[in-house]
Amino acid sequence: MRFTRDYSAEIDRLKNEIETADAIVIGAGAGLSTAAGFTYSGERLQKYFGDFVEKYGFRDMYSGGFYPFPTPEEQWAYWSRYIYINRYMDVDNGTYKRLFELVKDKDYFVITTNVDHQFQKAGFDKHRLFYTQGDYGLWQCSEPCHQKTYDNEKTVRKMFEQQKNMRVPSELVPKCPVCGKPMSMNLRADDTFVEDDGWHRAAERYDEFLRRHDGLHILFLELGVGMNSPVIIKYPFWKMTYANPKAVYACLNFGEAYAPDEIAGQSICINGDIREVLNVLA
Ligand SMILES: [Zn+2]
Repeated sequence: MRFTRDYSAEIDRLKNEIETADAIVIGAGAGLSTAAGFTYSGERLQKYFGDFVEKYGFRDMYSGGFYPFPTPEEQWAYWSRYIYINRYMDVDNGTYKRLFELVKDKDYFVITTNVDHQFQKAGFDKHRLFYTQGDYGLWQCSEPCHQKTYDNEKTVRKMFEQQKNMRVPSELVPKCPVCGKPMSMNLRADDTFVEDDGWHRAAERYDEFLRRHDGLHILFLELGVGMNSPVIIKYPFWKMTYANPKAVYACLNFGEAYAPDEIAGQSICINGDIREVLNVLA
C-alpha cells in the first residue's frame, strides 16, 4: 500500500524515533548519493566526459563503465575520471554530514550498497559501516587470483592528471602484483568480486550488531533504496521489523516510499527529497 499520511506528521514521528530508539540501523542506496549531489548524467556527465559522450554517445556515467573500450589506456582514462569525481573530489552538499549529525551520538550501524565512500568522508565510524558492493577507491585482480584489494588513490590521481586524448600513459595501467593480469574495480558486478578480510569483518560486525539489539526498540532507517537489489537492505529490513514488535521501519525515498501492509503500523514513509527531509530533521 502507498501512504498518503501527513508529511510533517511523519517527519515528527521520525524525529521522535531517532531520539528514542535504542539503536538505529541505516540502510542506504543510490538515492542518498543522488540527493547529496552525485548525479551520473546531465551537467556532470557533460563536464567530465564530454569527449566520451561525443565519441560513444553515452547517456550516463554507468553505461560508459561497462563499455568494452579498445585499449586499457582508454578504459582507464574513462575510469580514472569516474573514480576521481565520484570518490576523491568533494561533492557532498552536506547531506551525508547532516545524517551523521543526526545519529553520531546514537548506537548506530550502516549497511549500504553505495560504493562512493561518502559515509567515511562525512565522519561515520568505519567500524559501524558495511559497504556490501565494493568501493570506487579499491582495485582487485580481475581474475581474481587472490582475495585482496588495493587502494587506488595515488594512481588514479596520476591518471586523472596525466591523461591526454582520452588515454592514460601505458605505465599507469594497473597490473596484478601477484599474477600480472589486469586489475579491475572492486565492485560487485559478477562473481569475480573480491570479498577481502575487511569485507568479511564488516559483515560479521553487522550481524553482531543485529544480534545484540534483537527484540529491542530498533529503528531501521532506509534512505534512497530502490528496487534494483532489494534483497540486500529492503527485504531484510521488512522481515526484521515484522519479527520485532518494538522495531520501527522508516522509508525515505523520493516518490517511492512504501511499506507492506504487514508492518504498516510500525512504518514511517516519507515521499520527499532526502536532502530536504534531513534538513528539516536537523
Ligand atoms: Zn592476479
